[in-house]
Amino acid sequence: MNEHARWQMERRLEAAAGALEENGFAVWVCRDRREAAERIVAEAEGARTVGFGGSVSLVELGLPDRMASLGKECLIHGAPGLSLDERVEIMRRQLTCDLFLCGANAVTLDGRIVNVDATGNRVGALAFGPRKVRVVAGANKVVGSVDEALARVRAWAAPPNARRLGFRTPCAETGRCVDCRSPDRICRIVQVLERRPRLTDLGVILVAEPLGL
Ligand code: SF4
Repeated sequence: MNEHARWQMERRLEAAAGALEENGFAVWVCRDRREAAERIVAEAEGARTVGFGGSVSLVELGLPDRMASLGKECLIHGAPGLSLDERVEIMRRQLTCDLFLCGANAVTLDGRIVNVDATGNRVGALAFGPRKVRVVAGANKVVGSVDEALARVRAWAAPPNARRLGFRTPCAETGRCVDCRSPDRICRIVQVLERRPRLTDLGVILVAEPLGL
């Protein structure tokens, strides 16, 4: 990235960080993915169970392996070889884990966190349940408004996610959203966190690099 693009990205992260703090969220701005991974490892101190909200960003940070190597019980519903019942049981346990980690579909410059889910395990845990929640968002997730966030989901996040997860949606074939009525539709639940949920210890790690989808 050239220096001017980096300058703009850092200003946008600063703006989003300030607004998130004003909205009651704890915030850390990390220079790169290595610093972000260390921040999250520090946040996991004392946590016995760590839930993962099915995030490409967390995988790119190497966190599932890192947490397992620290002896944490990792609750990963997308692990290979699990039956649907086993996946659902893990998702239920994520709702009461010590530390829940997830990505965000978007973070707005006025400090809102926007996510669109199919099942709702991520947005459920973001609202209430786990003892601590930490959200990781790369610079590519920072957008100007909630409308822009929702457009970003349909244009850039949901189609590759549908394809990654093996859902048979139109966007998984063409890369474009048609606001489908597919039984596999993954855009089912929209959550906008406008302020930190009252009883949830929720913090955001913003990373000055693109991360995830
Ligand atoms: S509404 Fe359907 S087509 Fe559009 S992004 Fe979501 S799953 Fe894909």
